[in-house]
Formats: sequence, structure tokens, C-alpha cells
Amino acid sequence: MSGTPRSRPKGTQDFVPPDSGRMLHVEDVFRRLAELGGYQEIVTPTFEHTDVFVKSSGEDSDIVTKEMYSFKDRGERDLTLRPEGTPGVVRAVIENRLRVPCRLYYVGPFFRYGRPQKGRFREFYQVGVEALGEASPLVDADIIYLGTEFFRSLGISDCTVQVNSIGCRECRPAHREALRKFLLDRKGRLCADCHVRLERNPLRVFDCKVEDCRAAVQDAPTPRQYLCKACERHHEQVLSALSRRGLLHEANDRLVRGLDYYNRTTFEYISASLGAQDSLGGGGRYDYLVGDFGGPDTPGIGVAIGLERTMLAAPVAPAPARRHLAFVVWLTDAELGAAQDLADRLRADGVPVQVDYDARKVKGQFKSADAAQAACCIIIGPDELAKGVYSLKDLATGEQREVSSDAVSEAVRALFRD
Ligand code: AMP
Repeated sequence: MSGTPRSRPKGTQDFVPPDSGRMLHVEDVFRRLAELGGYQEIVTPTFEHTDVFVKSSGEDSDIVTKEMYSFKDRGERDLTLRPEGTPGVVRAVIENRLRVPCRLYYVGPFFRYGRPQKGRFREFYQVGVEALGEASPLVDADIIYLGTEFFRSLGISDCTVQVNSIGCRECRPAHREALRKFLLDRKGRLCADCHVRLERNPLRVFDCKVEDCRAAVQDAPTPRQYLCKACERHHEQVLSALSRRGLLHEANDRLVRGLDYYNRTTFEYISASLGAQDSLGGGGRYDYLVGDFGGPDTPGIGVAIGLERTMLAAPVAPAPARRHLAFVVWLTDAELGAAQDLADRLRADGVPVQVDYDARKVKGQFKSADAAQAACCIIIGPDELAKGVYSLKDLATGEQREVSSDAVSEAVRALFRD
């Protein structure tokens, strides 16, 4: 099947102004919070060797079995467009021998082949942090808090945090066995996918969206009931660190998250305003992942947040009527050089400026200024040139006055209203 060159592929989005600006703002808010927490940006490739994801997320995870964009390149290499951030970051930390502890954050596009719907796309953006080499439960709480601060900064007030612990290699086998037995007794009620999950990783049945399966696990043994002493203590410390900050959180004993690499803390941010796709983001601990990738045993924890859903949940500030942009308008060829010089000078002063060199007539230049939603025009004609001044026209009010060459930057800035 091939699409038309005039429409975007199913499940993708164009971010056009002003939404592209909103997205940038959301990213900036995240970057600032991450940097305040000591995280540094890491940029990894948008595609990796397919094994990076298969070996970490798990061969039977939904992401690997149903959602990956995998392909062979012209050199017959098995590659996959990244469906999530953590595996690539862990790969990069090991490959580049970064010193741990290290705190990293990322911002970028991810790809999953799912059924597109509100808040679910085939290409989507995530922001996330990964803390490698830190085992303390206080780091779990810090990261959970960072996410809630992000949502709070963007005015999202209906976000709740669900927290769980799924134990470690010590305590998981007992739970797994108990769960398997429990589910075997109810096998007839489970969907075909869950029959496979039951054999390979019964924990995944908790993640199934099929109604009958959800009902079947209602009273199932939960990981929390089987936590060993060390995991129980870790979990209590996470919860008390959240409570100490006054951060409201809900216990969700069924929150296992669909990836194999998690252990102990798992968490998810839920927004009531989003409908079916109500998860704004989530994360968890992955203390075995670096070791499983062949690196030295290193604890880790991270969070990933979806930008599209964040933008859906965040209140939209009314767009300013006019942009923080000035247009330099020139009357005749004799002022063209002066127009260029003024544009350069204003830009060097940090004032955004455009000049329309194509429109030979003033009227055409004013039209361009209006189309660009500029706040003002700075007009240079023979009179202005002779007097060494500019005429400054406020496009919101239509008022026009002369300003001296020295005062022009400040006068323009004063017209950037909101
Ligand atoms: P996950 O690791 O699957 O929980 O993803 C973390 C976050 O990324 C989710 O809570 C969503 O906000 C976002 N996300 C995941 N998949 C998609 C998708 N297909 N479209 C849009 N956002 C997504």
C-alpha cells in the first residue's frame, strides 16, 4: 500500500505554528526541570539494532511482538525505529563507558505501530530521564516528583500518580508461581494472548486490556503480597518520601508496566481528562538492565512522558494576537542597504526581525508583515534616512511615530505586548 504524496502517513502529526511553539515550550519546561535535577542531555539514534529492544523489553512484550517498526537496511542489518528511550540510553552509557552515577535526559521522537486514536500515534514525542548507578529509594521518589512538577508547571491539575513495587529476582519467582497457578485455574476465561503470557510471563496478564482477563485477575495474587524484606523496605521508603513532600499517590497493586526490565518501583501518571489513553507517562526501576546488556551491575531508574498527551491535558494559553516580530519596511532601492543594516543591528540586539526583499511596493511589504503577524513595522524612506530616524508603526493600534536610531530596539520591544 502506498499513500499519496499530499497526505501524511497514518498515525503521524504535523506540528505547525502555533502548536510547534507550544511543543517547544513544553520541551523547554522539561529541560529546565531536568537540568535543575542535575540531568544532562543525551541524544541517541532514532534507530538501533533490533536486539537492543528485544533483549530489554522482552521477546513477548506487546511492544516487541506487535508495535515495532523493524526493517532490514540495504546491508541486511536488522534495525528498529526506537519504540522507547531506556534501552538506547543504556546501550549508549555502556558503549561510551560513561562514569556512573550519571543522570541523563532525552527529548525526541519514538515510533510504535498501534491503532491510532486520540492521544495515540505511530510517531510520538517523549521526554524522559534516566538515573544510572543510584539505588536509593529517595531517587525513585525524586524522579516521581520531577514528573509531577513538570505537569504542575504546565497547569495540569488532574494528574494522579499510581505507584507499585513488583519486587526483585529474590521475591518474584514465588509470586510468579502463585500467579501462574491462580491463572491456570481460570485459563478458560483468558484471551489467546494471555494463554501465551501465562506460560512465558504471567505478570503480563495484569496489563491485558481485555475485559474478561481484567476480571480474571481481580483477586489474583499481586507482587506486593510477595515482596521480600528488602523490597518491602525500599517501597515503604519511596512512599514515605512522596508523602513527606505532600505528593498524593495511589497504590495500584496491579501496575506492572508492559516491559520485562522493570523491578521494584513502577509508577504511572494518569490524567482523567484524556479518555481511553489516560497515561501521561510512567517509569520504574531497572536494576538488572545494564548487567543484562553486558555492562557492570548498575542500578537504574527512569521515567518517560508523552508530549502529545501532555499537550492534550495542559490548558492552552490564548495565543498572543501578534508575534514578537518586527518588520523593516523600505520605500525605495536607496533605503535597501539601510534596511538590511537595521535588521542586522536589531537581531544582534536580540529583536526578531524580518524584511521582505521581494515586494517592491510598501503595500506588499505591509501585507507580508500582517501575514507574519508582526507586532510592528519600522519604516525607512528617504525622509527618515535624511533625518537619521525611523517611523515605527504599531500594527495592533495603527499608531505611528518617529524614533531615533539609538532608541529603536527599546521602542520595538515595548510593542511586544504579551
Ligand atoms: P510507556 O512507556 O508505554 O508507558 O510510554 C510512556 C508515555 O509515552 C505514555 O504514558 C504516553 O504518554 C506516551 N506514549 C506511549 N505510546 C504512545 C503513542 N503511541 N502515542 C502517543 N503517546 C504515547
